[in-house]
Amino acid sequence: MKNYDIYGFKTSNLLVLAFAFFFLDCQQNKAPKVEIRGIYGNPTAFWDRGINLKDLGVNAVFVHSGAINQKMTGRAKDEGLKIFAEFATLNGKNYVEEHPEAWAINNKGERVEAATWFMGVCPTEPGFREYRFTQLRNLLQEFELDGVWLDYVHWHAQFEDPAPVLPETCFCDNCLTKFSTDTRIQLPKGTTQEKAQWILSNNDSSWRDWRCKVIFEWANEMKSILKEEMPDALLGLYHCPWKDDEYNSASRRILGLDYDLLVEVIDVFSPMVYHGRMERSPEWVGDNIKWFSDRLDIQKNNGPKIWSIVQASNHPNVISSDEFETVLRGGLSGKASGVMMFTSYAVAEDKGKTEIMRKVYTSLREQSE
Ligand SMILES: [Zn+2]
Repeated sequence: MKNYDIYGFKTSNLLVLAFAFFFLDCQQNKAPKVEIRGIYGNPTAFWDRGINLKDLGVNAVFVHSGAINQKMTGRAKDEGLKIFAEFATLNGKNYVEEHPEAWAINNKGERVEAATWFMGVCPTEPGFREYRFTQLRNLLQEFELDGVWLDYVHWHAQFEDPAPVLPETCFCDNCLTKFSTDTRIQLPKGTTQEKAQWILSNNDSSWRDWRCKVIFEWANEMKSILKEEMPDALLGLYHCPWKDDEYNSASRRILGLDYDLLVEVIDVFSPMVYHGRMERSPEWVGDNIKWFSDRLDIQKNNGPKIWSIVQASNHPNVISSDEFETVLRGGLSGKASGVMMFTSYAVAEDKGKTEIMRKVYTSLREQSE
């Protein structure tokens, strides 16, 4: 082929360059290797049935921090499993009952009611902040973990049910003062209800931005504690899987999740794609994870990672084994590099689901070796 000079380049050089870009592009768009084949819930669900998790292809256990003990971490390590602690962050029914000063306040100036089973604590109340930060530090000092997965990191609301509960909070004195100080917005005199109304009518966008920063600061504070106590451990986040525009943008507007902020401190995002509980189709899981992969723009910033959590549990409706396979595979779509299911018990008590998990996980293990 004859080479022509174009702006000093030979066409052959241009072809080489074009090929190199094409190759790079293919590399960037390739799905990442699956590194986490997890379960969420107590591993004793399997151990008590005489099942070794390695035989099922599992390599990671995510378990509520309150359920962790030395025996569990010891056996998990012996079986070569990574162990991650779920850490309930802003959920605290018992806490607010004992410490009413941390009760979240709605736009009528009243204490919020529980959002079905969730009771969000006011995230700016100093006593509660100290309590949770100490609790995390104690956990990290007691157990050797591979990471901590923050759960319930959002303002008081309920997103896991088919009919979400999305109230306006928190207008307690701590929040009003901090909002005013941080944003230098002078609040009018009046009742809590009047102040809330004034904010929502006149400074809605500053209020939403500020609320997102409060949630981000929680994640940031948790990351600092983790880095001090356990520098190699990962910080994960269980979170609402809604797209940006769902429920009138409630993910940011009400829950206070701002992914553009959270990517700064979260190592691994775990969207809670509970299709049954949210009355979505099993195929929705894969679509959602693809959307979220693009939303985080993972290929460009080389992280964070996505390890999805899918539903195996038969509440409120039965999830069939076939459906479980669809959501387990769907959870690994897009750029996800790990998956786990809610819960270990739901799989362990069902031979069909256990077999699906073994089939999917052992084949993923073979591919990764
Ligand atoms: Zn508050």
